[in-house]
Amino acid sequence: MRQFIVVGLGRFGTSVATTLANKEHDVLAIDIDEEKVQEISNQVTHAVQADATSEETLQKLGVDEFDIAIVAIGSNIHGNILATLVLKELGVSHVVVKAQDNLHGKLLSKVGADKVVYPERDMGARVANNLVSANVLDYIELAPNYSIAELIASDKLTGKSLKELDLRSKFGVNVLAIKSNDDVNVSPEAEAVINANDVLVVMGQEKGLSQLKHY
Ligand code: ATP
Ligand code: ATP
Ligand code: CA
Repeated sequence: MRQFIVVGLGRFGTSVATTLANKEHDVLAIDIDEEKVQEISNQVTHAVQADATSEETLQKLGVDEFDIAIVAIGSNIHGNILATLVLKELGVSHVVVKAQDNLHGKLLSKVGADKVVYPERDMGARVANNLVSANVLDYIELAPNYSIAELIASDKLTGKSLKELDLRSKFGVNVLAIKSNDDVNVSPEAEAVINANDVLVVMGQEKGLSQLKHY
């Protein structure tokens, strides 16, 4: 089990902290607001009221013993950046930080953030992509222009094997999994056949995915 620090217990930070704790990981949750600390205290390993921009305080909390920190301080940009800097200075090897926008994200990278996340932006794109096409169930952007989508197999795909369909050369799309009822065929072989109502988990570039959606 790994040890995580979560700094800033707004909606995002709280969700990160409780999800990790539910997976049996050690979580040290920190917020400057005592009320936030109280609210989460019985759901995580340790919850502490502290100002995460204070190097001395974090040092006393032994943050250098932790593998990964998530900085989820939001509107207090100054606090968000300083906390990132302090955690890196104290030797936390992997620091993930929530950014408000691209410029803020760039600055965080320069300060030493190992990964910058944009939950509002990414979730917005995901919700929008799920809404625009009825047969797309879920959608994750892997990199600009590269995504994983979950879609219901159209009539044209059913009754055929992956080899016959040859989606890789037609659309540059890889099938990562085929879901049929409660069964999931992960990493299917070329001989795997797609049946009516199957759900495909596919990966590829936007263009290919879009062509497949309308195929
Ligand atoms: P949400 O995840 O709910 O969208 P948000 O982006 O609106 O949150 P804030 O509510 O501004 O972000 O910040 C999240 C938390 O970070 C708050 O609970 C706040 O008390 C905490 N916080 C702010 N500054 C510090 C600090 N210096 N040290 C520790 N925690 C802090
Ligand atoms: P060949 O006809 O070249 O001997 P093969 O028997 O070695 O082929 P594969 O190359 O594994 O079989 O598969 C043939 C084709 O099936 C691939 O080129 C690809 O288009 C398609 N295919 C197989 N697996 C997948 C997958 N997971 N996702 C998308 N397409 C697939
Ligand atoms: Ca917010």
